[in-house]
Amino acid sequence: MPHPASAHSLPMLVVAAALIAADGRILVQQRPLNKHHGGLWEFPGGKVEPGETPEAALARELAEELGIGVEATDLHPVAFSRGSAGDRPMVLLLYRAERWEGTAQAIEAPAIRWVAPEELAALAMPPADRPLAEALMALR
Ligand code: C5P
Repeated sequence: MPHPASAHSLPMLVVAAALIAADGRILVQQRPLNKHHGGLWEFPGGKVEPGETPEAALARELAEELGIGVEATDLHPVAFSRGSAGDRPMVLLLYRAERWEGTAQAIEAPAIRWVAPEELAALAMPPADRPLAEALMALR
């Protein structure tokens, strides 16, 4: 049966993001103001490019955005949520980083913050990050 013409016939964008926690705090970064969802606070990560695994894409993004080294094998899936990026459906995959090398810096983001889980409630986040933040707060 042919697909109906709808936004959902566009290819799905797969985005991988990281849960990076240390001393009871979670790392979030602010999206650049000129990008989609500019100024909102997100779990660091980005688009999975064709031919990449989500874990390899996330390790690449974390090096580019934060200057930290993470092995793909140290990224463990936690949860996912759905959203949209422009007119494309999007799935956001959240991975916990078990260990990393280096100190996270705001290389591409205007700012990064380490926040207590309950502080996630007050942060303006992209719609797909919000349910993931709620799930993390509910775990406490
Ligand atoms: O960061 P990048 O522009 O590659 O992200 C691609 C899409 O994924 C954007 O629409 C962005 O808002 C979304 N995204 C998100 N949550 C994240 C990371 C990216 O909703 N944690």
